[in-house]
Amino acid sequence: MSDIRELYQQVIIDHGRHPRNFGQLAQATHQHLGHNPLCGDQLTLYLIIADQRIIDIKFEGRGCAISMASASLMSEMLKGKLISEAESLFHNFHHLLTDRKQDESLLANLGKLGVLSGVCAYPARVKCATLAWHTLHAALIGDNKATSTE
Ligand code: ZN
Repeated sequence: MSDIRELYQQVIIDHGRHPRNFGQLAQATHQHLGHNPLCGDQLTLYLIIADQRIIDIKFEGRGCAISMASASLMSEMLKGKLISEAESLFHNFHHLLTDRKQDESLLANLGKLGVLSGVCAYPARVKCATLAWHTLHAALIGDNKATSTE
């Protein structure tokens, strides 16, 4: 188990230091600013959506390793997915971080996002890990106000 935890840790550090899909999307159809005042994490999410599908996704911002890694992993995971699939992933991911009994099928369903499962032991960091997802949700429903985890 400790080997797996160590591997998870390495993936988080890698994505935190070198976030994938980092930058702006000039052609974005949706964009939203999210903020986690508890930790100081801030990010702007850019999406190109057509026919209920996320064609492209990028983000920029700054924050702790967990918030950046989570946004990076989310962007990799969601490119090409239907909005309904993205919302179901968010639901499952949130469940993974807030419910301490982690079942195997949930982990399998989440794929690479499972590296963040250890965050559930640190309730204060759950907001870091879910910031990108809350921001995504707000962007999708067209909420014009900036999103705060508070
Ligand atoms: Zn944070």
